[in-house]
Amino acid sequence: MHCPFCAADDTKVIDSRLVAEGDQIRRRRECLSCSERFTTYEVAELVMPRMIKQDGSREPFDENKLRAGFLRALEKRPVSVERIEAVINQIKNALRATGEREVKSLVVGELVMEHLKQLDQVAYVRFASVYRSFQDLSEFRDELERLEAEPSAS
Ligand SMILES: [Zn+2]
Repeated sequence: MHCPFCAADDTKVIDSRLVAEGDQIRRRRECLSCSERFTTYEVAELVMPRMIKQDGSREPFDENKLRAGFLRALEKRPVSVERIEAVINQIKNALRATGEREVKSLVVGELVMEHLKQLDQVAYVRFASVYRSFQDLSEFRDELERLEAEPSAS
């Protein structure tokens, strides 16, 4: 990389070591032209992709919202907080692993459904019934028509 002092092209690494418990690499560099020394840090880019909503708008990934969704679906169900947190981490890893800067929020919804299916069938049905009706408007309309067509209880 360029020397920040004289902008020369060539700098050499004279020392590199792991820091921050192995999450960063710290490199000492020396400029071959002016002999100034400087330090760079290398960290893995673990940025969550942004969410593309149904209407095309973008918003940052919101872990709390994801957690709230799980907690709502799993309310009064025999699933521990530890298992929910583990699943949230799996979903975050899956999103990061896409390597994409933007991911459709639909993808997250599908991941949540997949995991709920394994965690708890009741929660899965709860979530799916709400989620599906919002995702698939035609299905939602069919459902409305079906309800309207039913003879009233009175
Ligand atoms: Zn230099």
